[in-house]
Amino acid sequence: MARNKREKYYKKIKNASLWGPIITFFIAMVAGVLVVAGVGEVITYYVVESKFISEYAIVENIVAVYESDLSDSDIKSTVKSMGRDYIIVDKNDKVLYSSGENTCSFKGGELSYVGDNGKIVAYEDAKNPAIDVSNTGMVFLSLGNFMNFVESDKTDIGIEVYNYTDYDIDSKIVSFAMWVESRRKSSDNRSIVKSEIIANQRDVKALVFLMIFLALAYIGMLTVLFINAIRGVLKQRAIAKVYYLDDITMGNNWRYFVDKGELRLKKHIAARHSYAVVNLVFVNYRNYCVCHSVEAGEELLKIIYNILAGAIKTGSKELCVRSATSSFALLLNCESEEEVKIRLDRIINVLENIDSNHKFSFQAGTCIIPKSVNDRGMAVRRKKLNLEAEYNNACAARNAISDNTESGISFFNDKIVEDQRWLDIVQENQIKAVKNEEFKVFYQPKYDPRTKELKGAEALIRWISPEYGFISPGKFIPIFEKNGFITEIDHYMIEHVARDQKAWLDQGFKCVPVSVNVSRAHFAERDLADQICKMIDDAGTPHNLIEIELTESAFFDDKDAMVYTINRLKEHGFAVSMDDFGSGYSSLNSLKDMPLDVLKLDAEFFRGEFDNDRGGVVVSEAIRLAKLLNMRTVAEGIEVEEQVDFLANEGCDMIQGFYFDKPMPGDEYEERMNK
Ligand code: C2E
Ligand code: MG
Ligand code: MG
Repeated sequence: MARNKREKYYKKIKNASLWGPIITFFIAMVAGVLVVAGVGEVITYYVVESKFISEYAIVENIVAVYESDLSDSDIKSTVKSMGRDYIIVDKNDKVLYSSGENTCSFKGGELSYVGDNGKIVAYEDAKNPAIDVSNTGMVFLSLGNFMNFVESDKTDIGIEVYNYTDYDIDSKIVSFAMWVESRRKSSDNRSIVKSEIIANQRDVKALVFLMIFLALAYIGMLTVLFINAIRGVLKQRAIAKVYYLDDITMGNNWRYFVDKGELRLKKHIAARHSYAVVNLVFVNYRNYCVCHSVEAGEELLKIIYNILAGAIKTGSKELCVRSATSSFALLLNCESEEEVKIRLDRIINVLENIDSNHKFSFQAGTCIIPKSVNDRGMAVRRKKLNLEAEYNNACAARNAISDNTESGISFFNDKIVEDQRWLDIVQENQIKAVKNEEFKVFYQPKYDPRTKELKGAEALIRWISPEYGFISPGKFIPIFEKNGFITEIDHYMIEHVARDQKAWLDQGFKCVPVSVNVSRAHFAERDLADQICKMIDDAGTPHNLIEIELTESAFFDDKDAMVYTINRLKEHGFAVSMDDFGSGYSSLNSLKDMPLDVLKLDAEFFRGEFDNDRGGVVVSEAIRLAKLLNMRTVAEGIEVEEQVDFLANEGCDMIQGFYFDKPMPGDEYEERMNK
């Protein structure tokens, strides 16, 4: 959805600068023609055309007189009264009658204008030729299109006057003179009447100048709009460039990767190959920027980009862009996972050594897009391909690389999907589960290996979800440690254990100390000891019945903070134990710094073949060390009798393991206390 919006927005910007000016240009071109023609038409009508119309009426009248049955003398006098020059000729063009000045050019044998019905013919005036364009100082006037009005739509008389006429620039009026011929029905004689159309020269001049002005304005406007349209095209190109530009590497950006990549992969030809979408991260970027500068970091990103760009095969539709701060997106042609791994190894190897003074790490997550073929092995377009989703999978694969400091390559698979789904379920349900008391406290007793007496217990969380059933802590505790919800859980457990202990005490049970796991990350809170103290005091439980286990967490290792909290807890009278000694963070080194009361030997010591020679030596020395440090010892994960005997011999204080009991619900644990 967000992507659709983005594409729409881009198209809008792109097209606004492109189509707007082009469309305006064409509209203006057509509109301009219409305006110039329309204005010309209207003005011409008032200046000249209206005069033609009235003159035509007179010509029509004269013709009607000749067409009538009047005698020649009556015709003569009638026409004379109309104030026109005329001549009447016989069929041999011999002038029979004439009135006024006879300048009809037909005498030269030239018939200049012929009406379309053949009855009425117009001749040029020899003295004042209507279409003489030879004189210098004359201005042409295109009147053709409106002079055609003299069509015989009113009568069957047609006079066609067209093309060009002119006017004398010095005279005040413009006259268009012509002779109009008509035949009498009764004889072969022809009557020819001079007709004169007179227009005011000033009007015609104004008309000419107006038309010239309009034409120039039109050309000017079109020029401006044309330049604007060209600028629009250039602007659109610039926008497209910026839209796909990564301003740090000066290469292409993430949008380019998605838009072009998807287009390419959806092509028929691309469907024949499989591709690898890669999320490659420069792990040390932030650190490098802090130690040097952001500018130096960006320079490095540019170098990395150039190396990546050089490593891709441009001809085979591969792509490379910087997709986020220090992440790069690659689209690689690939035959198999192995092939991609070899290529990425090679690329990472080059990248790791771009600066001889630094050791850089790069991690790559990869998602394979298989080739798209039908049952017959023919390529079919990848219609539903969503490159962003594929890249997201590649990112998820990269996130799954557990070590977040070293270089590494990982591939997206079903397990990652499952893990991600589970992560989502846990995060979505965690708050609700606390509210609904879906988390249950289980107790695992700790026994004295010699007397087999109950000496203590460890509170272990269980999630009994109405939707997902029984969930062991290994499936949600690491998630809570990552997302910080572990502090809620620790509080929840301390509160519940304190309440249980108080209730058992009140019921007269012979209570033993119960240890509660508290995440190392939680130890960062300066007032943790006071918080715990308050919770236990609120329940009214004696402090010696609660022990705090400092659990393993890969995400926190601030020794000073831990030492501070351990000391505060001890001041409040709580025993503190180190969980899982011998694994990961719970090392010998921690023993040196932390004033702990109890050492819990990690179950790993007792896994597999318990070798008395080597494993036994380590365990017995660890117990001895604890004693020297005034610490009690608890052995975890004890499943067999020999181990119990061995530990009893070595002087281990307590044993917690399936040999004696598995973790159990509170009511079952009550029975253990009764015994
Ligand atoms: P842990 O604190 O080391 O707890 C001991 C784990 O070993 C428990 O696993 C227990 O069931 C198991 N265990 C005990 N005896 C045996 C044995 O003989 N054989 C084998 N195979 N396993 C044995 P569990 O309950 O699954 O807990 C796993 C881890 O989850 C715990 O390790 C602890 O780190 C964490 N955890 C459990 N409950 C809590 C809690 O309430 N808060 C915190 N922060 N972490 C917890
Ligand atoms: Mg524990
Ligand atoms: Mg443990």
